[in-house]
Amino acid sequence: MNTHLQLLISFQHLDSKISQLQERTHEIPESIEELNSTLDDSRREIEEAETLLGEENARRRDLELDVEALREQLSKYRSQLTEVKTNKEYQAALHEIATAEGAIATKEDQVLEGMMVIEEKEQLGEKLKRGFEHKEKEILQKRSKLEKFASEAQAQIDGLEKEKSQLGTQIPEELSQQYGKIATARNGLALAEAKDQSCQACHVKLRPQLFAELKTNQEIITCENCNRFLYWAG
Ligand SMILES: [Zn+2]
Repeated sequence: MNTHLQLLISFQHLDSKISQLQERTHEIPESIEELNSTLDDSRREIEEAETLLGEENARRRDLELDVEALREQLSKYRSQLTEVKTNKEYQAALHEIATAEGAIATKEDQVLEGMMVIEEKEQLGEKLKRGFEHKEKEILQKRSKLEKFASEAQAQIDGLEKEKSQLGTQIPEELSQQYGKIATARNGLALAEAKDQSCQACHVKLRPQLFAELKTNQEIITCENCNRFLYWAG
């Protein structure tokens, strides 16, 4: 076989391997980004649940302070009962006492309701945290797998690129430029196998004379339709 043709075939082979690896890795950064944002979402969910829990606890403390203040007032009213001089004052004090007792009962109910809400929110928070730990472990594993794959692929690509550039020095400048032009125009594929009397890339029928020449693999021949270098694989 023509030496230059052989070199072009090897060159194309390396090029294709490189593009395959690039294709398999080019979505990895995006996938990692997605995994990170899934974790961020879960973290945010936990933070929001914690904020709500904090608000609920603050509300409960406020209610408890209110109850405390009301109880103080109540004991004041009760002690006033012993000091009243008229029936009217007595009735008024009783009314104040009843009002304070009613307010205390209402607030205590609210405290109880609040405590139930707090308990629910605490349970939800725990559930979210457990879910997060599980998810985090899973995501970190997936992420490191992807990172490992990407770095291994990159090392392979680097090796192939090195091989390619060494090979490239053996290909005459003009041929190398021609290869570059065709590869750019033809989606990275500058070579095509000739088989069954046609170019296997564009499927155009080759002239019998051209095909006969091709079968010797002695000349650098390009497809008259797609311009790719043709070779006969036998
Ligand atoms: Zn063709």
